[in-house]
Amino acid sequence: MIERKQTRQLHVGDVAVGGGAPISVQSMTTTKTADVDGTLAQVYALAGAGADIVRITCNEVEAAQGLAEIVPRSPVPIIADIHYQYRLALAALEAGVQGLRLNPGNIRKEEQIKTVAREARDRGVPIRVGVNAGSLDKDLLAKYGSPVPEALVESAKVEVRYLEEVDFEDIKISVKHSHVPSMIESYRLLSEAVDYPLHLGVTEAGPPPSGLIKSVAGIATLLNQGIGDTIRFSLTADPVEEAKAGRQLLEFLGLRERKGLDLIACPSCGRAEVDVIEVTTKAQVALEAENLPIQVAVMGCVVNGPGEAREADIGIAAGRGKGHLFIKGQVVRVVPEEEMVEALLDEARKLVEEGVESRLAHAEANAEELAKAARQQLIEIQGDANRSDERRRRVAEVAKSE
Ligand code: SF4
Repeated sequence: MIERKQTRQLHVGDVAVGGGAPISVQSMTTTKTADVDGTLAQVYALAGAGADIVRITCNEVEAAQGLAEIVPRSPVPIIADIHYQYRLALAALEAGVQGLRLNPGNIRKEEQIKTVAREARDRGVPIRVGVNAGSLDKDLLAKYGSPVPEALVESAKVEVRYLEEVDFEDIKISVKHSHVPSMIESYRLLSEAVDYPLHLGVTEAGPPPSGLIKSVAGIATLLNQGIGDTIRFSLTADPVEEAKAGRQLLEFLGLRERKGLDLIACPSCGRAEVDVIEVTTKAQVALEAENLPIQVAVMGCVVNGPGEAREADIGIAAGRGKGHLFIKGQVVRVVPEEEMVEALLDEARKLVEEGVESRLAHAEANAEELAKAARQQLIEIQGDANRSDERRRRVAEVAKSE
């Protein structure tokens, strides 16, 4: 179990961040904020895909006005993303947002930052100090020569000091970098220096799959060191993919309870009795539509499949034109290959409704028939491993010999 670094706790609306709260997933809309219905549709999609908090840009007066309509209708807390214009932060607060993100690299005047902090403090709204290597304060860039981790951390500390000076402490911090080792080092240094909750992300990670790999490399490394309280994947993709990826990462690391499907599949090999990629794709489409909170395995052969995937709740393994459905490694049904995916879906639904014990008991009732079918199948695939006929013949020959 990963021991997490103890940080202070704040609340973005009703979502607790830091102080041992579940690590939250964030994403950001890509619509024009002034398009209220379009933005809300995306917020709903992101929430459905696993986002606990959604960030929305507030880059113009019309965007702030849009926020005033979006926030009361949103299923999750909304954070306004502010660059350059501190007045838009004040407008977003007036619109009722549950959080602000300020970029210290482009809102640089101390008095303006403090004005926003006083207003946020009086309204009980947290602020993320969002340092970004690509838009680092130009004085710090000149001092350090490049956006090195020390420069990012210094930028965050300067901004945090301004906030603390007006008794504002509902702070979380990010020091995002697009270079993964620099991102990891920046957060590691920051985590040693402060006990505010940290928002993790690799900035401008790019399109999947490389964007996903960079994000996982940076975020998972830090989470495994106990660092990080909320995360965002910054992908050049539909933001629903970001939310999904963030949620899945936390589930795979055991940091959040499984909410949806976990599909595992063997990589296939020369033993495979079926096109594993095709069956897995079909199973994924069918199962994702149901969003059942179980682990499902698709395995290419019945000889090794059920055993290798015995930890899965349910699975299917192919063998000579047949699909063997198994629950916790135990074969419970044998169906024709073309019915594999349909049968898997049917059994998965029953498993979720009735539970593992009930489905295994049901299989038990048909055990004899099933065992016969499975035995016959194995003999067909492996041949008679005991070579009984040959041994009987040889025993008889020895017995008859003089
Ligand atoms: S389950 Fe069978 S087909 Fe898949 S990798 Fe293992 S041995 Fe190969």
